Amino acid sequence: MKKIIYIVVGIVIFLVVAGFITKAVIEKVTRDITEREVRRIAGDQAEQITQEEIDRITQQKTEDITRSIIGVGTTSNSLKTVECDKIPAARQFSAPSYYEGPLIDAHLHMPFTFDVPKSLYAQADFDGAVLEKDVPAASLICLFDKTNVKSALGFYVVPSLLKTQSLVQIKQIHKQFSGRIAPFIMTAHVSALNIQPADVESVLQANPGLFKGFGELALYKDAYKGVSPDDESLLPYYEVAEKYNLVVMMHPDNNQQATVKKILQDYPTVKFLFHGHEIVPAIAEIIAFPNAFYTIDTDLSDVPGESNSVNLYAGKTKAQFVSDFKRDYDKIQATALKNWKSLIEQHPDKFLWGTDRAYTIHFDSEVGALLDESARAFIAQLDPAAQEKFAYKNAERLIEMGGENE
Ligand SMILES: [Zn+2]
Repeated sequence: MKKIIYIVVGIVIFLVVAGFITKAVIEKVTRDITEREVRRIAGDQAEQITQEEIDRITQQKTEDITRSIIGVGTTSNSLKTVECDKIPAARQFSAPSYYEGPLIDAHLHMPFTFDVPKSLYAQADFDGAVLEKDVPAASLICLFDKTNVKSALGFYVVPSLLKTQSLVQIKQIHKQFSGRIAPFIMTAHVSALNIQPADVESVLQANPGLFKGFGELALYKDAYKGVSPDDESLLPYYEVAEKYNLVVMMHPDNNQQATVKKILQDYPTVKFLFHGHEIVPAIAEIIAFPNAFYTIDTDLSDVPGESNSVNLYAGKTKAQFVSDFKRDYDKIQATALKNWKSLIEQHPDKFLWGTDRAYTIHFDSEVGALLDESARAFIAQLDPAAQEKFAYKNAERLIEMGGENE
């Protein structure tokens, strides 16, 4: 009996100490980030702000942020259950035909496994949904069922400080919805929270076979601005990817075509999955590399280059998004066909469908139905020999090739 009491007391002491250390580390990091953010936001007026004011704001924000991080995610052990009617939504547009087969969403930002205070995440400039709070995993899977999406390449942000907590939910989803999400490890895109290559490796070692890829690595974002794809800070990630057979998903910035080609050449056994408009001018040369793949995603929910078009990321309400989507639909279809049909047909094994879902409204069933309808109308216009490859087979093959880590 005494022994049990000692063990229980030991466990309680351990939990208290571990909690205290986590809190102290988070506090220090958030203080550093918040101070930098305050100076950055103040911009031109930084000179007029006294150190005392900066200290006061930093102190207050650090407390808010720490409280909100510590309080979330660790309490709930089970995923919510949701009622799911799997009846597909009625079509909104007329099309000559629709692709009716399965889809794999090859570009999906999984809702955050932690609640992100806006101020802490300001550098990432990314209003991602929070798992279970904004989007229960079960409702995401329900949306897949309604729209005949087999699975998705799901990008999970794993912040350096919240690895353990993030992994709990990633594994829960993996277990409960087996085969529906192929997990990718994504850096936070906040400099102080980015998971480093050695930590990526330790996560892979602790969870053999769980992760299929690394990314999205968005080089146009503030945290990576000016970092080129062949920068020496990124090479260790590719080496880990090579060793553990992970797909590397990257969104290059402008003028990075040459260095994109360089890494394709330098890491011939690593499969690189790209997206984004920045490398489109060189896409024909890039896609010719055997290890290069590309997702066509927001081009099926937006008119590229038109600032007033519908756009998934404009922070619109659902009603606004739906009405703008309906307004732009014909133009989206026509532009996507003009830009992509012949490229896909020339390289039928190299292009993948995706959505780039990330914000709470993107996981809404009405919005999901529109994205689905646009995809299926577009795919039906492709050469029949390319349709299933683009819809899901290339994605399936890519994650089978990746992720068989020891
Ligand atoms: Zn993305």
